Amino acid sequence: MGVPVSQMWTVASYVLGKKLRGVKRYPLVLMLEPLFRCNLACAGCGKIQYPVDILRRHLTPEQCFKAVDECGAPMISIPGGEPLLHPQIGEIVEGLVARKKYVYLCTNAILLEKHIHQFKPSKYLSFSIHLDGPKEEHDFAVCREGVYDIAIQAIKTAVAKGFRVTTNTTVYNNANPDSMREMFDNMMGLGVEGMMISPGYQYEKAPSQDLFLHRNQTTNLFKRIVGNAKRSWRFNLSPLFVEFLKGNWDLECTPWGMPAYNLFGWQRPCYLLNEGYCETFQELLDTTDWSRYGRASGNPKCADCMVHCGYEATAVADTFGSLKAFSQVVKLTLLGAAREKLPPDEPGPENTSGSDEERIRKVQLPVLSS
Ligand code: SF4
Ligand code: SF4
Repeated sequence: MGVPVSQMWTVASYVLGKKLRGVKRYPLVLMLEPLFRCNLACAGCGKIQYPVDILRRHLTPEQCFKAVDECGAPMISIPGGEPLLHPQIGEIVEGLVARKKYVYLCTNAILLEKHIHQFKPSKYLSFSIHLDGPKEEHDFAVCREGVYDIAIQAIKTAVAKGFRVTTNTTVYNNANPDSMREMFDNMMGLGVEGMMISPGYQYEKAPSQDLFLHRNQTTNLFKRIVGNAKRSWRFNLSPLFVEFLKGNWDLECTPWGMPAYNLFGWQRPCYLLNEGYCETFQELLDTTDWSRYGRASGNPKCADCMVHCGYEATAVADTFGSLKAFSQVVKLTLLGAAREKLPPDEPGPENTSGSDEERIRKVQLPVLSS
């Protein structure tokens, strides 16, 4: 099972409609963060470092619906924090599905089996399960043993109940390409619909700063992870974004394509950077100096960023923006990517974080669970 044709058609007609009307900036996916609290404390996380009183708060369903209606994006991603800790997450998802939005509910899956009764299988709903590699790598990335096994069991349960299930994987500089490729095989074997994979962003607040990739490291690593991809692998990514990650296609960031709404309002300029908030989406569009962001701007905070939320919307827009890009996507879809000459193994950076035990202790943060 792949992405439903109705979703592809909705996205294609939405983007083409914007292009035909000459709309320069439009949202493709709303990143709706209903809360920041989580039941994990991953080393690369930049979202859970808020004071406890903020971690305890969450958006109401009405606030979520208002943001969704205001923004108008056809797809909604619900990251966090851990959305399943939200007491009204079932009501929020139901309201979004009723609006015919394609929803990706991101979860570390610890609570998925417990809460799955709150959801109904629908072509509009996909669980997006956080998996940063096979067992050992994933448990290391999330700083807790046993989480991989829980996630796998939750994937099996959700697939068996007829839900759409995808995975989302953040790649850090300690990723082992062979392990990642093994994980792709495993996910396809479990009936996962598609896999989303992205480099991590160097959050200033993330506890482990030595995990992040520089741009040339990203392209070398992704060549080895997704280069010469098996035909059986299905990625929940546009083909141009995959080529971009491998360094074979140039894209510029369009941060308005995946705007972020959370407890504080519309985050400027993107899901990753926090340079203030706006009360309305229109205010975000109209008052942000977009020339200050993206690689071409020279902004050092953007120099190494190749993250999905900055570039996937660009890849989709570019697909319908030129014959060259469109024909490349058709070629990639029908024939697959050309064989890559893989770069040699690079020695990983020295682990400056101490032993695994020390590292896990180092990233223990205030965490709330239910
Ligand atoms: S699962 Fe990990 S990365 Fe995701 S919000 Fe929780 S702590 Fe952060
Ligand atoms: S390049 Fe990355 S950090 Fe900079 S605006 Fe785009 S998404 Fe945000």
